[in-house]
Amino acid sequence: MLKRYKKFISEYSGKVYLDQSLARYCVFKVGGKADLLVKVKTSESLIEILKLVRNLEIPYFILAGGSNIVFDDKGFRGLIIHYLADDIVVDKNKKTAVVAGGYKLSELVRTLAKENVGGIDFLANIPGSLGGAIVGNAGCYGKSISGVLASVTVFNIKTQKVSVILPSKIGFKYRDSVFKTAPHLVVLNAKLRLAKDSGQQILMRIAEEKALRWVKHPHQPSAGSFFKNPKDTPAWKLIEDAGMKGKSIGGAMVSTKHANFIINFKKATAKDILKLTTLVKKKVALKTKVKLESEVRFVRYDGKVTTY
Ligand SMILES: Cc1cc2nc3c(=O)[nH]c(=O)nc-3n(C[C@H](O)[C@H](O)[C@H](O)COP(=O)(O)OP(=O)(O)OC[C@H]3O[C@@H](n4cnc5c(N)ncnc54)[C@H](O)[C@@H]3O)c2cc1C
Repeated sequence: MLKRYKKFISEYSGKVYLDQSLARYCVFKVGGKADLLVKVKTSESLIEILKLVRNLEIPYFILAGGSNIVFDDKGFRGLIIHYLADDIVVDKNKKTAVVAGGYKLSELVRTLAKENVGGIDFLANIPGSLGGAIVGNAGCYGKSISGVLASVTVFNIKTQKVSVILPSKIGFKYRDSVFKTAPHLVVLNAKLRLAKDSGQQILMRIAEEKALRWVKHPHQPSAGSFFKNPKDTPAWKLIEDAGMKGKSIGGAMVSTKHANFIINFKKATAKDILKLTTLVKKKVALKTKVKLESEVRFVRYDGKVTTY
């Protein structure tokens, strides 16, 4: 592997960071060191890197806002590609915009509000990037990002080709898309459908929603709602009914404020979070027969990505 790492470092035109702590890049604040890490701001350099890792057979992981993942305590044996970008092209009529996958949602909504363009305000207070939101079909209050997408441009690492995919071909479901099981497809950009609105009104609405989140959500590091909501009963209710609210293992705890948040309250490790996840699932299944599934993704040191 060392030989391949050396080749990557010599062939890649940008800076390569060695032994970076992944806890710094993970909103949950857990994770060991990554062998290699690069910071990417353009789709051109993203493609350059993806071609290189494919040729050199180096395991990789695309990291954006880091708000829906748990990194392994053992870190990552391979390359972490940290992709955050700010390219945006709004069309003349302000009905659509082509936005880089690495664009932060909060900045995107605020940037468009300056031009009196909205239609995507519900995304403003969701941490992370457009690409991460598309992968997990992020949303809130009954709306999801799939509802405002016109198309998604991806780079296919296997075929080394760029293509445009329509939302109907992305298999969007509640907090799910084909991208979750197709890590060879990397979101370069997406075309969003917008609506004219008052910038001032948008900013007021998102400030109100932010205040609501502040009241309802815990303030310690987390990855947001931890388990997907089953059809009939919200996950927080099932977890509360199973007596797991406030339960802790090591530094990880089921929040006393919102039972579907697992928080890092005291230097938690990924192992603490995983043990607590397993226990919550077990207790909920025993009490209610419902099988919870984590929305949050665990990134193993060897590149395998799983939910529990
Ligand atoms: C406090 C808090 C509140 C939250 N509230 C909400 C909420 O209201 N609604 C909601 O849906 N979620 C919520 N979340 C979860 C999270 O913010 C979303 O899932 C978000 O969309 C993840 O984006 P990210 O950029 O952080 O992705 P990351 O965590 O960096 O990555 C998530 C997955 O997407 C993949 N990925 C990222 N970018 C790309 C790309 N360009 N191409 C291909 N794959 C990519 C990664 O490889 C990984 O598998 C919350 C999280 C927190 C911490």
